[in-house]
Amino acid sequence: CGIFAYLNYLTPKSRQEVLDLLVTGLKRLEYRGYDSTGVAIDSPDNKDIVMVKRTGKVKVLEDAIQEHFSGGEYSEPVNTHVGIAHTRWATHGVPCERNSHPQRSDEGNSFVVVHNGIITNYNDVKTFLSKKGYEFESDTDTEVFAKLVHHLWKKHPNYSFRELVEQAIQQVEGAFAIAVKSKYFPGECVASRRSSPLLVAIKTKTRLATDHIPILYGKDDKQLSADQDTDSGKPQVLPRSESTSEFMPLEEKEVEYFF
Ligand code: GLU
Repeated sequence: CGIFAYLNYLTPKSRQEVLDLLVTGLKRLEYRGYDSTGVAIDSPDNKDIVMVKRTGKVKVLEDAIQEHFSGGEYSEPVNTHVGIAHTRWATHGVPCERNSHPQRSDEGNSFVVVHNGIITNYNDVKTFLSKKGYEFESDTDTEVFAKLVHHLWKKHPNYSFRELVEQAIQQVEGAFAIAVKSKYFPGECVASRRSSPLLVAIKTKTRLATDHIPILYGKDDKQLSADQDTDSGKPQVLPRSESTSEFMPLEEKEVEYFF
């Protein structure tokens, strides 16, 4: 499948513009999966997450988005925004809206996840979470991840979004790339990969201090920096130095996290 996430916090953009970008991203990724699609964005009052999911090609989703989000509050610019999107190639569960991504943690859409790959120990995680009272609404392996993050959030109310996803990642097996969004962490998106490709790009209008923007680590232990040339639009790839390694070590399962 293809996962696509978009974070905006420099130039005000309307939700409609963000949705257009998500759909454009999905169209580029459509060759990776085409049985169903979906997006998640913030509701106009920023308190909830709204999802639209469809069986079929990206065009079907695009039409649904136009119907669902046209005009009104969705055309008003907002400063910070995170949207995630998915085009699926089903491995667990037939193609249908219920099994489409984003998959969610609960009816309140507290945590929503797009996922490429397979969580091989999903049955064990599902059994564990079922005992904790979680009810599953899809046949996907992905849903366990959203619910696991939710479970950890209840258990560790002081954890950052990144820490929650880190904890969840330690407990799942398989190869995957994921992007997670939460209504409790507006303006944040956490992405991670293990043995699956994930590309992160940053475009900035000005040179930013590195503490102003999350530090990203890419493949081969390279730091992707936001401190880039204004015109080229391409993020620099810098060697990771000890002084910037405030990041968790990539051990055992060789997971990489992007924030
Ligand atoms: N295993 C997940 C599912 O079946 C993701 C499949 C994919 O990579 O599209 O929903």
